[in-house]
Amino acid sequence: MKQIKLAVIAGDGIGKEVVPEALRVLDVVAEIHGGLKFSSTYHPWSSEYYVQHGEMMPKDGLSHLTQSDAIFLGAVGDSSLVADHISLGGLLLKIRREFEQVINIRPAKQLKGIVSPLGNPQNFDIMIVRENSEGEYSSIGGRVHSGEDEIVIQNAVFTKKGVSRVINYAFELAQKRSSHVTSATKSNGIVHSMPFWDEVFKEVAGNYGDVQTNSEHIDALSAFFITKPQTLDVVVASNLFGDILSDIGAAIMGSIGIAPSGNINLNGKYPSMFEPVHGSAPDIFGKGIANPVGQIWTAKMMLDHLGEHEMGRILLDAIEESMQSGIKTADIGGNSSTSEVTDEIIHKLRNK
Ligand code: ATP
Ligand code: MG
Repeated sequence: MKQIKLAVIAGDGIGKEVVPEALRVLDVVAEIHGGLKFSSTYHPWSSEYYVQHGEMMPKDGLSHLTQSDAIFLGAVGDSSLVADHISLGGLLLKIRREFEQVINIRPAKQLKGIVSPLGNPQNFDIMIVRENSEGEYSSIGGRVHSGEDEIVIQNAVFTKKGVSRVINYAFELAQKRSSHVTSATKSNGIVHSMPFWDEVFKEVAGNYGDVQTNSEHIDALSAFFITKPQTLDVVVASNLFGDILSDIGAAIMGSIGIAPSGNINLNGKYPSMFEPVHGSAPDIFGKGIANPVGQIWTAKMMLDHLGEHEMGRILLDAIEESMQSGIKTADIGGNSSTSEVTDEIIHKLRNK
């Protein structure tokens, strides 16, 4: 029996609704597999926790998480209780940083049964690999002089280590997919960091002769996500470019409510963390209408990461079959409830 230890943080808002749904699905996955067991440890860390304890997680919180094989997170943030920079900084960003989750992965894939705003079926299946620890999101810089003479400098930091590991990850992933990596660059306008990025990309590509490559300027590439997304496989990008592309990716899928993501630790010292792209969605919390697909697809990504590819594939099939049967939440044009959608996915799973 393979035991998988999950650290579960449902967090705020609809995180508290969709995480239990996804765990329900995971239990069925384990049952079907036969040789798999999930043991979950629940952590009530959230904005409500902050109101009670003055911190988003206990001082020794991280040490509780280190024992897990993966962290399964819902959503963090409830600005009616805690300012976003405190809730995100005290939990989500802290885990990402301390656990060296230096890479963020997000699929942008057209699911069967869900209409993309792009219209006719496009059959795109992209994996965006974003550098998650350095680059443009740097605190180095500052303001000098004042008034008409004021100058603001914002530095970006690209390290050889940081750039090569994210690009390497993209190539490794491409080998398991359609063997194509597209690099997001802007070397015609950003004359230090982006030529460096291109250089490292070329160097790494040399080790993967079987993988096809191309580099596109970020402005053109953003347009390709709309005009010809089916030509893209793995897309590797810096922190800022990856951030922007991921949102475009979620948009072309049809709803932010279905998009999953993973924050990957590469050195094996700490667990990776999986969370849907959506936030706590206070506007729909408590109504039972939150789309659970983002959280359930997130569970599929986690299964892949834990080496359970076959179960991951079966789960995604079950999600797509459910969507095709029309059992959908309102954000994707249906009128089913959160639990009805989960029930249908479980039903399809059991019939596999
Ligand atoms: P946060 O600050 O936590 O990111 P937010 O309100 O800025 O919260 P989201 O929580 O992602 O961002 O919500 C954006 C919009 O998408 C809201 O209108 C919300 O209702 C909708 N939404 C988000 N997730 C879902 C979901 N799972 N199902 C249905 N609608 C969703
Ligand atoms: Mg938000």
